[in-house]
Amino acid sequence: MAIAGRKTIGVIGAGMIGVTTASFLLRRGHDVVLLDPGNPGEGTSFGNAGCFNGSSVVPMSMPGIIRSVPKWLADPLGPLVLRLGYLPSLAPWLIRFIRAGTPDKVRHQARALRTLLDQGIETLAPLVQNAGAQDLVQRVGHLFVYRSLTSWQKERAAWNLRADNGITWDEFDVDELRQLEPNLSREYVKGILVRENGHTTNPHRLVNSLASAFQRDGGRVERRRAVGFNVVDGRLKAIRCGDGAIAVDAAVLAAGVWSKPLAAELGDCVPLETERGYHIMIRDPEVTSRIPVADADGKFVATPMELGLRLAGTVELAGLAAPPNWGRARILLRHAKRMFPALRSDYPEDRLSMWMGHRPSLPDSLPVIGRSHRTPDVVYAFGHGHVGMACAAKTGKTVAEILSGQSPQVDVEPFSPQRFE
Ligand SMILES: Cc1cc2nc3c(=O)[nH]c(=O)nc-3n(C[C@H](O)[C@H](O)[C@H](O)COP(=O)(O)OP(=O)(O)OC[C@H]3O[C@@H](n4cnc5c(N)ncnc54)[C@H](O)[C@@H]3O)c2cc1C
Repeated sequence: MAIAGRKTIGVIGAGMIGVTTASFLLRRGHDVVLLDPGNPGEGTSFGNAGCFNGSSVVPMSMPGIIRSVPKWLADPLGPLVLRLGYLPSLAPWLIRFIRAGTPDKVRHQARALRTLLDQGIETLAPLVQNAGAQDLVQRVGHLFVYRSLTSWQKERAAWNLRADNGITWDEFDVDELRQLEPNLSREYVKGILVRENGHTTNPHRLVNSLASAFQRDGGRVERRRAVGFNVVDGRLKAIRCGDGAIAVDAAVLAAGVWSKPLAAELGDCVPLETERGYHIMIRDPEVTSRIPVADADGKFVATPMELGLRLAGTVELAGLAAPPNWGRARILLRHAKRMFPALRSDYPEDRLSMWMGHRPSLPDSLPVIGRSHRTPDVVYAFGHGHVGMACAAKTGKTVAEILSGQSPQVDVEPFSPQRFE
């Protein structure tokens, strides 16, 4: 039976954002085809820390961040690396990034982020249930730990932003922390538990489960690379792929960090940059955590996953083409040993796995969600930076509302693709 307003919609990119968007579009009765040259969930959605943190409202560029940068860059174990040869290409993004960190702008960005993060797990739940993947999503909170009260005080502004956006937490001292996470080093003197947060125990398997359910329910998944769009008189006719065109009424661009040239073809020059990050996994770790734990000083997260303990983090500004620097992943192992002293100092290679991924980041820490400049038929859904897993469900639902002719529940104005003009 034909459904009124039913469209054929191509979703470009089968990461967490593309798969959730495609699933919400299918639920609204559209004919949906998901395009990706690889298998679902093998991009950035593969190896992240898996956190669904409603509390992640704090933008990367905060007032005063510029003062911390030299210290981070000088520390070989530090959370930030910048490859000097890439600096000329990066400079325009970096300038926008620094300019985004004023108190007013940061308050606006945090409010906007919260609209995508709040109720993220509840919004994802029907898709997870439909995929039979409930075992992959847990809601045991997220623990932030500090090695000194001074470092906790330094993050006051960030916690104020969270409080302003309705996020609540419980505070723990050193002894209480020990009861909460017995394996944690006694070096940590302060802990903050945000109970509304959750995590997936396997991001890759979660995206795959959602993609399989999408296919089972009538969605199509095709291994094709989108290379452009056929637009006639302002209306989309087809998505051009490497191996021919595919006729569609509408499209969603959800190709993560690879979205930039496709958006440029539609007249939107967005300053999308990769913030490269790494993970190292320890299989059968001697000890693990019960709750995902973020080390506020080291800026990394330890997440208990079904395949082991995953340490994820660091920001490397080096572009898309540079080869991974696996030394960055190994540094996370040293941090892990400091966090959980009962871990070993080193492991045989067959107990470790390493990964590098590209966070798709805009300088103001907000994604791009909205219609393209050249045609209203293409809606963008990319640029979720550090919070793509957590924002995926609300993003997907929002895009499905837009393409179904409804006014979205989330105000998309702050995410406008044209905000950089
Ligand atoms: C170390 C690290 C830790 C992180 N931890 C967290 C966390 O705990 N919580 C959180 O919320 N976020 C986290 N993130 C961020 C999160 O992983 C990303 O924001 C999210 O995965 C982005 O999803 P995506 O679907 O936009 O992109 P991707 O997962 O990269 O998917 C994009 C897809 O597009 C496909 N594609 C590319 N070009 C084309 C084309 N031309 N045609 C068709 N398809 C194409 C790619 O093959 C890929 O499959 C972390 C990131 C890193 C690196």
